[in-house]
Amino acid sequence: MKFSKYHIATDELSEVDMKNKRIIFSTRSSTSILVEEELYQKAITNDFSGMNKKIFNTLVEKEFIIPVDENEFNYVISTNKEARDKVNFLSMTIQPTANCQLGCHYCGQTHSKDTANENVINKYVERIENVFSKNEVYNGLSITWYGGEPLMGYSSIIKASKKMIEVCKVRNFTYISNMITNGLSLKPKLFEQLVRECNITDYQITLDGTSESHDTRRITKKGEPTFDLIMKNIVDVTSTETYSNYKCNISIRVNIDKTNYQYVDPLIELIKELGLQDKISIYFAPITDFGGNDAGKESLSLDFFAQKEIEWLFKCYEYKIRINNILPQRSYSVCMVQNKNDEVWDAYGNIYACWEFPYSEYAKGDSLIGNLFDTEETYNKNATLRNWDDVLDSGKTWCKTCNHLPVCGGGCPKLWHEGTPACPTFKSNYKDRLLLDYFIKKNEKK
Ligand code: SF4
Ligand code: SF4
Repeated sequence: MKFSKYHIATDELSEVDMKNKRIIFSTRSSTSILVEEELYQKAITNDFSGMNKKIFNTLVEKEFIIPVDENEFNYVISTNKEARDKVNFLSMTIQPTANCQLGCHYCGQTHSKDTANENVINKYVERIENVFSKNEVYNGLSITWYGGEPLMGYSSIIKASKKMIEVCKVRNFTYISNMITNGLSLKPKLFEQLVRECNITDYQITLDGTSESHDTRRITKKGEPTFDLIMKNIVDVTSTETYSNYKCNISIRVNIDKTNYQYVDPLIELIKELGLQDKISIYFAPITDFGGNDAGKESLSLDFFAQKEIEWLFKCYEYKIRINNILPQRSYSVCMVQNKNDEVWDAYGNIYACWEFPYSEYAKGDSLIGNLFDTEETYNKNATLRNWDDVLDSGKTWCKTCNHLPVCGGGCPKLWHEGTPACPTFKSNYKDRLLLDYFIKKNEKK
């Protein structure tokens, strides 16, 4: 047996009053364990002599200790493929309109008033029926609504949802749905319709800090501020009975760079003041270039961002604001590009593998899989990013030799494709995250 290379660890923990101890985390099983320093030092040299049998068995079960002749990279890649073949939910992303009210500087899209008409909607439904009939593995459908701003095409969303829900009903399949929206039009009345008629229960809304920073960047095309309107919508929507009865969630995404990281703490304070802490969740995202649009020119360094993120996560934990996982889960597909049947459709019926492609400079050429109005035989099976497994195996990115691979999957294939390393902040702040997770779990047990 040998100690898995797919593990990470904190330093020895004397500094936090846990002398001669260390937390280890298997990225193969997404499990963290507090161990004695002596055990760790011996284990990493594959010396398991004298190890308590129960601890040894736990370390084998959680994949810290593995067969000596196993090629771990091959094992992880083949396990991922097997898991993907068994995924029983078909996940499609629909960008029903090329329209958006906002003019954010970091957006890589070109907007127009075009929205999916009845013919396009019928093609969405036809494609779903077609994929279902050719793949017996599925028993559910998940639809993500994205844009442009999807609510600029809300009547297409309502029409298409009703048809897709009916397809699932006839087959006795589960139907779930979520939306990425700027939140400007998400008034309670519309929200209730989207939940009750379209099963859209999860929403992601972006706030770039408090109004001081948000209103310098997430402005309308005419330059008008949007923070107060969006925040009011969040407060109103989360106060509805529908929000609690249907177990809805709004996840607030904060896009961050050098020009607004100072406004994240005040945003967290405001969320608490407004009593939203047990209603929404929050996460933090660095701004990066979009296809060479220079949006990332004010990016924070990964290390600085990661350090600030830990402070924000601690603050959210103190304020009881829900945060997404402190520690990452095992990832069997990096994102939709690795699931061959998962597709993105735009308002014209164009098909892509990545949701950043429609309405952008990627909208044509090799990135285009095809169009729903054409026959499947014409589709480009080798469209940009669909070859992510080959890219990983080729060693063109750092991922093949990275011990984070089983939980990371490679970050974002599009970023690597553009020549930007896509490592998540976890790679820089995992030691602090392991400790934060440990203390949270310890407190929960009290
Ligand atoms: S390649 Fe990147 S941007 Fe595209 S869907 Fe995957 S994670 Fe998202
Ligand atoms: S993206 Fe970075 S952290 Fe993720 S597997 Fe690749 S090298 Fe590792």
